[in-house]
Amino acid sequence: MSDANISAEKAMACMRERDIPALPDNFTVWYHYCAGTYPDLKRTVDILIDNGQEFSPSVNANLFERFFTHESEEKGAHSATTKLEGVIKRASEYLNEAGEGAAQFGEHLADASGALADGAPGNDARTIIEGIIGASQQMEKHSHALEQRLASASDEVVQLRKEIEITRREASTDGLTGLANRKLFDLTMRETCAHAMESGDPLCLLMLDIDFFKKFNDNYGHQTGDKVLKLLALVLNESIKTHDVAARYGGEEFAVVLPGSMLDDAMAVGELIRDRIAKKNIVNRTTGKKLGGITLSVGASTYVPGEALTDFIERADVALYTAKQTGRNRVVSEKDIPEQKLAVGG
Ligand code: GH3
Ligand code: MG
Ligand code: MG
Repeated sequence: MSDANISAEKAMACMRERDIPALPDNFTVWYHYCAGTYPDLKRTVDILIDNGQEFSPSVNANLFERFFTHESEEKGAHSATTKLEGVIKRASEYLNEAGEGAAQFGEHLADASGALADGAPGNDARTIIEGIIGASQQMEKHSHALEQRLASASDEVVQLRKEIEITRREASTDGLTGLANRKLFDLTMRETCAHAMESGDPLCLLMLDIDFFKKFNDNYGHQTGDKVLKLLALVLNESIKTHDVAARYGGEEFAVVLPGSMLDDAMAVGELIRDRIAKKNIVNRTTGKKLGGITLSVGASTYVPGEALTDFIERADVALYTAKQTGRNRVVSEKDIPEQKLAVGG
């Protein structure tokens, strides 16, 4: 039997086991879960299973939408584009009308000037001038109406720009924490690395992972765990400068991109975040009960101009792994990675 057949059979078994209806979207999710095609999908489903989450229709639909469609993003962009086309069509109609009005006015003036040049007698000249004044007034009214219509079209364009901006932001934001999502992180990395190469400015990366978070979830529940993720997002935002980007890299893994920072500065930021989180008293708001504290392990790397992005990330990852191996609740720099670890990792 081929690998694809094996994955398909496994997917059907997984779905049966969890009472998930055998619909095409669900099959797509579970087929790729079993085949391990997308690590993010695998990790998310594993978390749901770990946490005993029920695969309700809405959970299933969310999984499909998150990993296999960009439906909401596309819908927003599509409706904004359709509206924009409408505004442009109307504006160009107004301008055509304006063109016709101006041409008629021009003809009127040409006729009048021809008649005057032909030596019209006094009364006729007066009629001609009155005609010009009438045509000018009409032209002015016409222009005023057009101006208003063009102004309202331009307001609509401003409004549409805002709508497009909101759709774009939603598509790049993590729903739980409000931080940049993985997609925006990838984009930021490409852009900041390209900039660092051109400018020669330093660029650093921190990878952060909550220590023993599975245990925390097991002890206090997934919802309390989610609150901790939000708290960490707040601490990250408080601890970085405006041009730094904090992102949710995976379930309980975060990343901070620090353009313009040297490794020592990046380590100091990592240390600040680690310290702030370790000092937080986590309290259940409903019961007032104190919960166990939370600590973070952090790895830091600095960009070597021209290297592959994956190498840059890999060094921060190996540093993070070293932090875990050497006791957790610490920040480790790429400089402190044992040689053979880098060789194995990279
Ligand atoms: P380590 O110190 O080695 O990182 O241990 P760990 O338990 O944090 O790591 P492990 O990778 O074994 O488990 C990660 C846990 O993170 C599993 C899952 O319960 C939790 N987790 C991941 N994403 C979420 C999330 O969105 N919400 C909540 N509440 N928990 C999550
Ligand atoms: Mg962890
Ligand atoms: Mg982890």
